[in-house]
Amino acid sequence: MSSASATAAGPLASVKGMDRPRLCDRPACGAVATAGLTFQYINRKVWLDDLPDDPEPSMIELCTYHADRVSVPVGWSGDDRRPLEPVPAAAQVSHPLAG
Ligand SMILES: [Zn+2]
Repeated sequence: MSSASATAAGPLASVKGMDRPRLCDRPACGAVATAGLTFQYINRKVWLDDLPDDPEPSMIELCTYHADRVSVPVGWSGDDRRPLEPVPAAAQVSHPLAG
């Protein structure tokens, strides 16, 4: 199965683009990661944070879709610390605090 397709680009080619977007850690999801999921087993806590600039080894990187669907295990508590994104006017539904 070795189709000798000569890759003219050397090993340096794969190093280009240091700031390429990180992708969601979920299998079969190729979306760009926007949030980081961290666990603390001792306190049974789960945090969702904005994706930091520097990758953290213990952080699971998720796209918005999967970050919004994180389910916290029974007995654990979750804390979504992501900053609220501005909601497009068309998507605004009646706010629970508005009136
Ligand atoms: Zn995803």
